[in-house]
Amino acid sequence: MADPNTFHFTLPANNRPPLSELSEQLHPAFPFLTANRARSRGRDVFEVIDTVVIHATAGFATQHAVDTWRTVRASAHWIVPDEDEPQHEQFVWATVAEAKAAIHVRDVINVRRTVLGAGPNVNNRSLGVEIVNTQNVQDFRDQYSRWQVTATARIVLYAWAKYPNLKHVISHGKLDPGRRVDPGRQFPWDDFRQAVLSHSALPAPNPLMLEAAAADAAAEAAPHEGLGACTP
Ligand SMILES: [Zn+2]
Repeated sequence: MADPNTFHFTLPANNRPPLSELSEQLHPAFPFLTANRARSRGRDVFEVIDTVVIHATAGFATQHAVDTWRTVRASAHWIVPDEDEPQHEQFVWATVAEAKAAIHVRDVINVRRTVLGAGPNVNNRSLGVEIVNTQNVQDFRDQYSRWQVTATARIVLYAWAKYPNLKHVISHGKLDPGRRVDPGRQFPWDDFRQAVLSHSALPAPNPLMLEAAAADAAAEAAPHEGLGACTP
């Protein structure tokens, strides 16, 4: 099995996916976590984000992760529910606003010594995804569902289209090898990477989205005269 402390791939700048919808719901703890378990990124969010960090929770349910974050100063931007939760195959939970830095990688890591290279603090430059999985609690035997892998790939595709400098997709284990092995050796990293790089995890676009895109292209060719939006 693959070593989770090596999980890492980069996103080619010439193969950016189209903008896609993310099937997410704001978790009831979103306001608390965004206000109390996240910090200012210190820079423009669209400029600074270059990394997505993949984690696993080491618990049985979304609520275990949220309860932990209520007691310790930690968080992530999304949680991907487990197969025995009702949200599985429906949506992922948004738990912290993307504009803020969630606290998901230990601050003491010297980023220059990681593959990310020079740049701001890992938390300031990244988005964090937690996948519900029991990890060492069940000796890494808790298999990831196909949907969990697809849903995680969709988060990356969504972010890749949205954040112009996004480049690295990396495991927590690779960023903190002395302390962490998540998402664990049973995470199908090769399938996940393939689903992202081939865009095969992209959801089908809403037909109204295609209509708007066509109208936008037409408007660019022949702008409307005398009609418009409210302007400052
Ligand atoms: Zn982690």
